[in-house]
Amino acid sequence: MNLKNLSILEVVYFLFIGLMCVMFSIPIFFYEKESEESDSAAPMETRNSELTPKENISINEREQEKIEEYESVAYITIDDGPSEYTEEIIDQLDSYNASGTFFFVGENMDLLTDKMINKLKDGNHSVGAHSMTHQAIRLYDNQLFVQENKEAFSMLREKGFNSDLVRAPYGSTYLTDKQIGDIRDQKWILLDWDIDSLDWEFRDANQTYNHIIEQLNKIEEGNSETIVILLHERPETVDILNKLIPELQNRNYLLTSGEEVPFEELIF
Ligand SMILES: [Zn+2]
Repeated sequence: MNLKNLSILEVVYFLFIGLMCVMFSIPIFFYEKESEESDSAAPMETRNSELTPKENISINEREQEKIEEYESVAYITIDDGPSEYTEEIIDQLDSYNASGTFFFVGENMDLLTDKMINKLKDGNHSVGAHSMTHQAIRLYDNQLFVQENKEAFSMLREKGFNSDLVRAPYGSTYLTDKQIGDIRDQKWILLDWDIDSLDWEFRDANQTYNHIIEQLNKIEEGNSETIVILLHERPETVDILNKLIPELQNRNYLLTSGEEVPFEELIF
């Protein structure tokens, strides 16, 4: 096109078209930006309404950065400690730069040393309550679930863990609707699991690992973004983690805890 041959009317016409394009693209740009932000912010509000707005933003940003790097989040949860295996389990997680979540039983809390407490905090591991006695008759038949966990939480607070995370021994299926209501009234986060390792049944690292991977493959067909895996503090737990953590990391899972990516209630 020869610019010298354009009439003033044609120049005005092209300028007008150009201006219209810019005016229409500005609102579209802002609309997209806003909807991106609100998508990532929405789940946080439901997760922890007690956070102040400032804390909310900083966790949200960190969470966003972390999640963008990875495809999915996996929470490795380990029940029934503290035990003689706790420290080794923490060390194993740390050696892979992975965080785990420990559900401690009040009656075992004597086994928790200062060294373990420091390692749990340094490694951004989460700690939750898992009753005082782990006895189904007391917790479910005698309805002592809330009372026992109040005690367990206060023991955790004495050790410096300000947790609101609770796991029901044998799973939440034994809780009545009233008990679940009471748990929510306490503002505790009840966490069941997606993958039961059945480690207590297999008592063998390879068999347990294979069982976990079988279930993981099934879940992955459904594109789940967050997976909670149940393990226990047992003699073979370290060996299971030694196979499981690299496999999960190869599959691009972020192995984190509630310290980095807050938990949401998970009930079967
Ligand atoms: Zn348990």
